[in-house]
Amino acid sequence: ELEVASCHLEGSLLAVTGTNGKSTTVSLAHAILQSGGIRTALKGNIGDPLITAVSEPPSDWIVVEVSSFQLETVTTFHPKVSVILNITPDHLDRYAGMDDYAEAKGKIFMNQGASDFLIFNSDDSTTLRLSKKASARKLPFSLVNQFREGAFVDRNEMVVRFDNRENRYPVDLGPLVGLHNQENKLAAILSATVIGVSPEAIRKALATFKPLSHRLQLVGTWRGISFYDDSKGTNVGSVVMSLASFDNGVLLILGGRDKGSDFSPLKAMIREKVKALILIGEAADKIFSVVGDVVPTYRTGTMEKAVETCFAIGAAGDTALLSPGCASFDQYKNYAERGDDFSMRARVLGEEQT
Ligand code: ADP
Repeated sequence: ELEVASCHLEGSLLAVTGTNGKSTTVSLAHAILQSGGIRTALKGNIGDPLITAVSEPPSDWIVVEVSSFQLETVTTFHPKVSVILNITPDHLDRYAGMDDYAEAKGKIFMNQGASDFLIFNSDDSTTLRLSKKASARKLPFSLVNQFREGAFVDRNEMVVRFDNRENRYPVDLGPLVGLHNQENKLAAILSATVIGVSPEAIRKALATFKPLSHRLQLVGTWRGISFYDDSKGTNVGSVVMSLASFDNGVLLILGGRDKGSDFSPLKAMIREKVKALILIGEAADKIFSVVGDVVPTYRTGTMEKAVETCFAIGAAGDTALLSPGCASFDQYKNYAERGDDFSMRARVLGEEQT
């Protein structure tokens, strides 16, 4: 579909892939381009397929979210700007291993040349290694390193350096919070800078951008316990990043349908941040066998019991976090239905108790 669509489109493509953060980054990039007065459309995995742009009024730039599944079968797909946010283990029920998965992601830049751009996360070792194969002009972004050209964080500012110009944006500008969103913001503002959007338009869009639902979304606070819906956190890497955004005292709800994941990388983070682990869904036994001995762990099975457990064991100042690290299809139609169920139960029980 990407192939057919891109053959028929006039505008340039800003294509974004990665294990996590795609939808957030494309939405933000699209909002920034709009703020800069550029004719733009938002397509791909996030909603309407790219092909739908063919019958719409032409755009100068089409922002498209692309998954590894879609990239597997492309041969001529050629974005002017491509972005790789990160490559951490996911979908290992589909791929032979990480190399196979990374190779699919790498197809995003395979037709790019020296006049195109590859924006990539240089903190992520798999992404960094993969970027070496690209022929495009490479622009890294990082939370820890600084570059002559690229985007990075310097104390409380995001810095973008491109074509001998430097612009700075406060890290806490706007409602998109969390460490992982700093990466997404760096990627989006660097893309917009390359496309030629002014710093003023970038600032305006950052200040007003509304975070997407089910991505580390605060549902409410009852009896001092804050409930966060991160139902879209469907792999181990996203759970790690979500936990990194909180201090300790997290009541973590994990589980659902396993995608062949290795849950052991969660161990250290659970020890540091998690007060109690609450397991739901098909993967509960597997997760218990790997990380069940780190903190008090409850196998509640259902969301209803999980939320009840949060109220039963939580204290004021704690955070109840649904970041399941698994797909939702064992108990729900999709991640949104799972997040809505969590939020509804938190609201109902919360209001009963206060
Ligand atoms: P995707 O479209 O790739 O699934 P989303 O923007 O919908 O990404 O975010 C999905 C989940 O991934 C979020 O709920 C959050 O837990 C996690 N996440 C978002 N951005 C990042 C990032 N840059 N790095 C790691 N995890 C992230």
